[in-house]
Amino acid sequence: MNQMIYMDYNATAPVLPAAKKAVMDALDLVGNPSSVHKLGRQAHRLVEDSRNAVMALVGAPEGSRIIFTSGGTEANALSLLGCGRTRIIASAVEHPAVRSVNKKVEFIAVDENGVIDLSKLEAALGNDADNTIVSVMLANNETGIIQPLREITKIAHKAGALVHSDVVQAAGKIEIDFADLGVDYMSISAHKFGGPKGIGALITKAGNPLKALVSGGGQEKGLRGGTENVSGIAGMAAAANASLDIIKNEADRLAALRDNLEKQIREIEPAARVIGAGAKRLPNTSFIVMPGVLAETQIAGFDLAGICVSAGSACASGKIKQSPVLAAMNVAEDEGASGIRVSLGHNNTQDDVNGFVAVWDEIRTRAINANAA
Ligand code: PLP
Repeated sequence: MNQMIYMDYNATAPVLPAAKKAVMDALDLVGNPSSVHKLGRQAHRLVEDSRNAVMALVGAPEGSRIIFTSGGTEANALSLLGCGRTRIIASAVEHPAVRSVNKKVEFIAVDENGVIDLSKLEAALGNDADNTIVSVMLANNETGIIQPLREITKIAHKAGALVHSDVVQAAGKIEIDFADLGVDYMSISAHKFGGPKGIGALITKAGNPLKALVSGGGQEKGLRGGTENVSGIAGMAAAANASLDIIKNEADRLAALRDNLEKQIREIEPAARVIGAGAKRLPNTSFIVMPGVLAETQIAGFDLAGICVSAGSACASGKIKQSPVLAAMNVAEDEGASGIRVSLGHNNTQDDVNGFVAVWDEIRTRAINANAA
């Protein structure tokens, strides 16, 4: 990575060696999975063999359905627009891929810790939600805050609604148990857990209603037309396999690194704030406000020092507008504008954390001196 320190895993994770190899190997397969000849059958087998590995990453039981898509955005759209329900209720902190899936999405407020207000969800659903799908992410891309998905599912199902969860940020970072969470649809994206970009999947319980958004050659059992991204699918499966070990071996180490990073920052600047610090969060994510210093200034300073971090979500980078996620959490606009997201991954070390903290301190000192001049 050209000696850059990469701390932006929530934007995208570096491709894992096993995933890279699987992609390269699959590129050598000549056949189209729909062709009946031997080379076609080889490609078809690779796609089919990849399904279980990807489902295992989210603990989906045998017999669940998986539809490969171009990524998390498409998986979200496929479930929310293809499930046959006419009313979509979502948390106020969803990714734009859910927020803007259509103009009619209704949002449920979250508290200051970014957690959905369950009583408001219950009230919005009423007793008769047979026309409704509820979409709540497992973990937030900007803050890492984790939602009480099992409780959400219980409330929604009691009212007759279906439940979709965007687990794009949680997959590969924490254990996910599809059956235990009880959701009907789950979206994941390979590039967030060390697979290639441009491939994802929607996982559903067998028999759940679903209609294709793009029809065509009948691929994915008629639920997503278009020749399969065979090498992407193979890379995604390999990354999913490798991620099971990463979750087991790395989650505690990353949480310790992240906690240490936040501790060092607070020691330097007691007024620095970590958004959602009191909530249950992903082990790798920290959204840190440096009071009085714009995120753009910080990002540029870090970039010059060879450190990659983000302002808010990757999709919102470059925009000065307050992130809807922070607005929903009642974070003041000036605080939001001074916050950066640090998201760690398996390549990061204590040296990286110390390097980050040193640069954070330099940027802050420069800003203080500039203000005093
Ligand atoms: N959902 C969440 C929570 C995300 O963080 C992202 C990517 O930033 C997406 C969906 C979109 O995924 P993709 O880039 O695969 O379309």
